[in-house]
Amino acid sequence: MNIFARVKESVTVLQAAEHYGVKIQRNGMCRCPFHDDRHPSMKLNEDYFYCFGCGATGDVIDFVAKLFDLNSYEAAQKLAYDFGIDPDKPPAAAALSKPKYPLARAFRQEEMHCQRVLCDYLHLLENWKVQYAPETPEDTLDGRFVEACQMLEYIENLADILTFAELEVRVKTVDMLSKDGTISSLEERLKRLKKEVDSHEEPEIA
Ligand SMILES: [Zn+2]
Repeated sequence: MNIFARVKESVTVLQAAEHYGVKIQRNGMCRCPFHDDRHPSMKLNEDYFYCFGCGATGDVIDFVAKLFDLNSYEAAQKLAYDFGIDPDKPPAAAALSKPKYPLARAFRQEEMHCQRVLCDYLHLLENWKVQYAPETPEDTLDGRFVEACQMLEYIENLADILTFAELEVRVKTVDMLSKDGTISSLEERLKRLKKEVDSHEEPEIA
């Protein structure tokens, strides 16, 4: 494998841009370094970049070549050097030292985390809806039953989105749930509830 292929499989456009100090928004947009760009009009993807303002486009090597005014070979060498990619090592070793697309992997982990927390909460709500349902119309409603009625559908929807929606929608949803603290506070609460249940289940020693 030549240095161009090695570099391209090891470093994403996003990683390179970030490494060289380009400020990137959460949606992968940045101010184009190749024209006088006041508002972010360049989209950085993993494999390529595209500027909606000046039309600049290319792969990670083109990006670095343009950024530092190098030819393609010099740009590939710079990337290999800056990211610790040794062109003489077999691809397996290079792949081990720099995982491909760690950003995507990090997202996947975050997404699985969200799914797990939502799923735990969903099971809890399903139990509550049965366990704490009023037996007669005169019964005061148990808070847990009320919560189950109010939240079940919403949580079910979220879990469905994370399982079936397109990647872009999933990324937005995970982002929202993590940023607004939904997942972390749910997780805290589930842990607390579990502790309470566990301590009630312990046999009492007289
Ligand atoms: Zn541009």
